[in-house]
Amino acid sequence: MKTGTMQAQIFTFVIPAMALIYALVLGALWWQRRDQWHILAYSYCFGSIAAGVLVNIWIMGAVGALGIVVYHLLSMSGIIAMMWGTSRRVGQDIPIFIYGFTVVIACVLLAIAGSVDDIATMKLIQNTGSALLLALAAQNLWFAKKNHLVDHALVWVLALFSGFGFIRPVLTDLSIVLFGEGDQGIALLTSLHALLMTVMITLMALCLVSSVIADNMAEQRRKAEIDPLSGLRMRGAFEVEAEAMIERAHKAEVPVSMIIADIDHFKLINDRHGHLIGDKVIAEFGRLMLKAIRSKDIAGRSKDIAGRLGGEEFGLLLWNCDGEAAESMADRLRVQIHDVGSSIGMKAMRCSASFGVEQWSKNTGFSKVFERADANLYRAKNGGRNQVCGARKRSSSGSDEEIGYEAASGQSNVISIPKLGPSAR
Ligand code: GH3
Ligand code: MG
Ligand code: MG
Repeated sequence: MKTGTMQAQIFTFVIPAMALIYALVLGALWWQRRDQWHILAYSYCFGSIAAGVLVNIWIMGAVGALGIVVYHLLSMSGIIAMMWGTSRRVGQDIPIFIYGFTVVIACVLLAIAGSVDDIATMKLIQNTGSALLLALAAQNLWFAKKNHLVDHALVWVLALFSGFGFIRPVLTDLSIVLFGEGDQGIALLTSLHALLMTVMITLMALCLVSSVIADNMAEQRRKAEIDPLSGLRMRGAFEVEAEAMIERAHKAEVPVSMIIADIDHFKLINDRHGHLIGDKVIAEFGRLMLKAIRSKDIAGRSKDIAGRLGGEEFGLLLWNCDGEAAESMADRLRVQIHDVGSSIGMKAMRCSASFGVEQWSKNTGFSKVFERADANLYRAKNGGRNQVCGARKRSSSGSDEEIGYEAASGQSNVISIPKLGPSAR
């Protein structure tokens, strides 16, 4: 074998070597997040590319058609695993069995072409089969929800990879015409192929690794934004998302309303039952709020946002909800919080909350609706607590007395003192 051809053959090993490295990197990333099966699928994809190319280099020469079929099966199962992984990551279903069936058909055709030693047809089937699957992967991701720039990049890399597969047989013919079928021509073609394949799989690996890292960072950010006690967003994150929702509502011309809730006499709950029980009340109230916004959507999704604004004060921003509907929702929460004591195993504990509600009015920002809802909460507190105050003056009214607290001492601005609960006696 001439030196040039040998060098080109050695260069071919760059493809499985790089693919193996990417498989190991992705495998290590999966090991850190073992619940994320799509990362393992990516790792398998590169592992199968490495194995497939090695089979192609070593076995194909010896066993001919069988080598090509094995190579095809391995590399195609890798592409299908990658398609499954990318779709699963963005929550999109793909007809995986139909794709698998196309691979089986390609393998049968390859075996038939191989049995009559028709190398040109075999190469055509092989390239077109993989190009078709890559095109389907790109098409599938094209329509999926894309959160990061890297998701867009992956679509283009897959499309490029697919295009390369479609034109590869033509490129081979062209280079034979240009450089001849001699050793030099073959060496050039082999090197070019190895170079292009390495660039393609490197681009694909970069996109997939970046998407895993981007997902991990987003997850960490989300965790850092969630208050561990109530399970709701912390104030900063709540405000950022609220501003964004108001902007969307402005464009979509959709009503948005805000509810601010504050647990009544929470200091006394702490004093009587201890901070741990106080914490349980906050956690249970957070759970009630999350349940209230999630129940709006059958699919379990909600555009509404809930946050813990501080201490025992909570905020809800409700998408496509006018002030009246928000007041009804606040009133349902007001009634539900009466049972919080029983829910946390403190039957004798009295629990109530006051609510301020306001509908966002166009051409104002989030701070304005917040300010008005807060003013309404203040009214609810001053009006005797355990009630909802919104645009309809006072839409629902309970009172300290209804929940078992002593009535306010006649002056509307005096904060009433609750009676001692039986458990505290
Ligand atoms: P009002 O009805 O006027 O709202 O009275 P309040 O007692 O609920 O309000 P106040 O602002 O006087 O007291 C709030 C208390 O909430 C004081 C603080 O110690 C307590 N608190 C704040 N954050 C937490 C927390 O994370 N856990 C517990 N257990 N208590 C908290
Ligand atoms: Mg309070
Ligand atoms: Mg408060």
